[in-house]
Amino acid sequence: MLCLGIEGTAHTFGVGIVDSRGKVLANALKTYVPAKGGIHPREAAQFHAANARVVLDGALKAARVAIEDVDLLAFSAGPGLGPCLRTAATAARALASWLDVPIISVNHCIAHVEIGRLTERARDPVTLYVSGGNTQVIAFDAGRYRVFGETLDIPVGNCLDVFARGVGLPYPGGPTVERLAREGKRYIPLPYVVKGMDLSFSGLMTEAVRKHRAGADLHDLCFSLQETAFAALVEVTERAVAHTEKKEVMLTGGVAANQRLREMLKLMANEHKAKFFVPPREYCQDCGAMIAWTGILVYKHGLRQKLRETGVKQRWRTDQVDIPWRTG
Ligand code: AMP
Ligand code: MG
Repeated sequence: MLCLGIEGTAHTFGVGIVDSRGKVLANALKTYVPAKGGIHPREAAQFHAANARVVLDGALKAARVAIEDVDLLAFSAGPGLGPCLRTAATAARALASWLDVPIISVNHCIAHVEIGRLTERARDPVTLYVSGGNTQVIAFDAGRYRVFGETLDIPVGNCLDVFARGVGLPYPGGPTVERLAREGKRYIPLPYVVKGMDLSFSGLMTEAVRKHRAGADLHDLCFSLQETAFAALVEVTERAVAHTEKKEVMLTGGVAANQRLREMLKLMANEHKAKFFVPPREYCQDCGAMIAWTGILVYKHGLRQKLRETGVKQRWRTDQVDIPWRTG
């Protein structure tokens, strides 16, 4: 069975083709880059509509299959930006109706976890999912992926991007902040906010920009921003590991590219005798393959949807989805 998955929650329009054993045949994508500032939802949606055809053709060509060979359609129904979600959903519904194949709504955050489990052969990880749009600590328990901790305001990737913009660095901020942080020598105290198991990054971001305006060294600031934000992420992930006693830790999302964050999480995992996984970059980022693979899992476990049940859910939470393909 071949599943074609469409991702379109934010800046990336992706089409992946995956078979029922988890072989990824294609993972084509195009990413909208704003001319300036952050993502404009309507512009991103227009980008998706304009590029849907070439990305789809690219995926079919890479997989060496015809569109008629597709047996199942999956798409990212949420969480994400309304206009982007609606564009991806419209493409998915049109294709599913035309091909007369079943359609499955997939939760974007869960798809990140599932593609990581597939590519890393991880069984039951505590996952830290960190990107420009999301920050969550996720682990499976009693039939669902539970959110053990999450940001109460902005995602950590957004914190790095907005800080970068505030101090005159290009978008995306994460890679530049990482590079400059390597030259940082002195830790500048910044607000470290963990509330219960949840995180907050907006005060940290504002204060880091303020310190820059007050004349703090940019290398020291980038270093301090990373150390503060990442220590908070590791603290919450560590408590989830200690509580669940799981023996695997996985890091995914765009911010997973950061070597310092990897190093800190790996250290923590080692202390708990847990294995540490980071999927290849292609599968850490938003992509169609993760949607296609999760679509297969959902379909194989008997879920069927009518077309009118495929509405998008901008705030669809990770812990609202039953996960019948996992036990324990
Ligand atoms: P995503 O939202 O998953 O596409 O990931 C994009 C986010 O990852 C942006 O906020 C980037 O700033 C961030 N990012 C990318 N590379 C790095 C890096 N090396 N260090 C920290 N953040 C990064
Ligand atoms: Mg994502």
